[in-house]
Amino acid sequence: SRSINPTIQQPVAGGGGGEEVLSSEQYSCVSMQQLQIIRSSYSSSKPSPFLLSRLKDYEHHHKRCDPFSESFNRSSRELIRVQNSPDSLVTKPEEKEDVELDCRYIVWTPVNGLGNRMLSISSSFLYALLTNRVLLVDFGPDMVDLFCEPFHNSTWFLPRDFTFKGRANTPEFRETYSLGKLLRSEEEEQLEKEMPYVASLLQLFLSYDNDDYDKLFYKSETQQLLKKVPWLVLRSDQYFAPYFFLMPCFRAELDRMFPDDKETVFHHLGRYLFSPSNQVWGHITGFYDAYLAKADRRIGLQIRVFSLDKTPVSLILSQVINCIQEESRIIILPNTTTTTTTTASSSGRNRTTTTNAILVASLLGQFYTELNKMYKEWNEKAGATVVGVYRTNHEEMQVLGSSSHNMKALVDIYLLSMCDVLVTSPRSTFGYVAHGLAGLTPWILQSQDIEDEEQRVKEPACRRGVSKEPCLQFHANYYDTNPDHREPGGPVPVIMDCEDFQYGLKLV
Ligand code: GDP
Repeated sequence: SRSINPTIQQPVAGGGGGEEVLSSEQYSCVSMQQLQIIRSSYSSSKPSPFLLSRLKDYEHHHKRCDPFSESFNRSSRELIRVQNSPDSLVTKPEEKEDVELDCRYIVWTPVNGLGNRMLSISSSFLYALLTNRVLLVDFGPDMVDLFCEPFHNSTWFLPRDFTFKGRANTPEFRETYSLGKLLRSEEEEQLEKEMPYVASLLQLFLSYDNDDYDKLFYKSETQQLLKKVPWLVLRSDQYFAPYFFLMPCFRAELDRMFPDDKETVFHHLGRYLFSPSNQVWGHITGFYDAYLAKADRRIGLQIRVFSLDKTPVSLILSQVINCIQEESRIIILPNTTTTTTTTASSSGRNRTTTTNAILVASLLGQFYTELNKMYKEWNEKAGATVVGVYRTNHEEMQVLGSSSHNMKALVDIYLLSMCDVLVTSPRSTFGYVAHGLAGLTPWILQSQDIEDEEQRVKEPACRRGVSKEPCLQFHANYYDTNPDHREPGGPVPVIMDCEDFQYGLKLV
């Protein structure tokens, strides 16, 4: 049994930060203090010394360029000046004022659900590390209360009155500022290969619906060009970090940051960035201590149903049970007839049996209800609580733009990440984040999209994943021109196909 309530003595800096003392904001972030202590006691994988030093350097750089800094003011004044000039944002180099380029930014903007968002934030942060940029986030009201400030003594919030705050997700913004659009018009106008202009602001459009020009972001040549652009605004719902490993311009640095273990990229960056706010953490610890701490083993079940028409609840339920009891043998039910009376202790708990707590995370309440009923009956027969079934909430449907809905989602993601074993749903970024933060390779339920087939549980019901990493579902496909990239043992042996997403890639 393990409880979240370590005695806090001398907290130290940032998720992965090292020896510095926490800033007052971070000191008041309870999860950051407690998680650091909890994780240091059992975390199996540690960030490399080089990654730790890069994070520390990043924090200094962030502080020097943050929205309270003079560099930031200068850079945003210049942006407004160029925005107001007739030639819009694209100026010839010789016309460009001598702007302090010491501080260049990548501004993250929200798209899709929380899982998608956490994946793209962590990828943006890796991009910031690789390109010496400063990551700022344009959180709306539905996200501001979710996380603590991650960077030492500084802020990552884009100021409320900033020129494009809250406007960067519109089609007009894409039309005016996207890198893809610029490269397309360059090609259509048959301009010289080298870009003749330097933009002050460009949007990187890396969502699932990006086009071939947007994808040119993934070319090393484009990265050369982007170096000159002080403001990048990102729109992405993807975990695009794995693709950096295929880009020659970043590979050496990545190999230094992650020398041995490429499948812990999200694990380390996600743990560093995402400390739940005190309010969210209060819910997490309250639930954990009440229901999960006392079990010998915590099993997280993440059940995401994308289409109820195609996959009825009863079918998924059978699949889940087949997975945990037969395929993965996560739960092995002892023989009830022998345990009932002979081995139960005076406290009613079987002394030799492992107690399992199953956390059911799903929008739909029915999975919990059915599993709870099933294991309750079973426990009664056994005369002991061998399997307890719990849930935090059941929102019934996904809601965009709601702070309380997102908080509940984060509570579930975090509680899942504190389990010992995880079973996740295919194609769900919510599940990716949970197992990535946990540092666990999940059991992934087999996709159950049923069109015209008779409705039966496919076999195997679930399979062990190939890695702890999230999957990059939509990307550039440049590797198609060089199939070696996908072969383990080939030039880039760290990338493989995803188990749950055709053409997806993941680090292994
Ligand atoms: P994906 O759609 O499964 O890839 O995951 P996302 O996190 O991007 O979007 C799904 C959204 O639905 C989440 O952010 C939550 O708002 C909600 N949701 C999905 N599953 C759960 C769950 O198990 N618990 C809670 N509380 N919310 C969920």
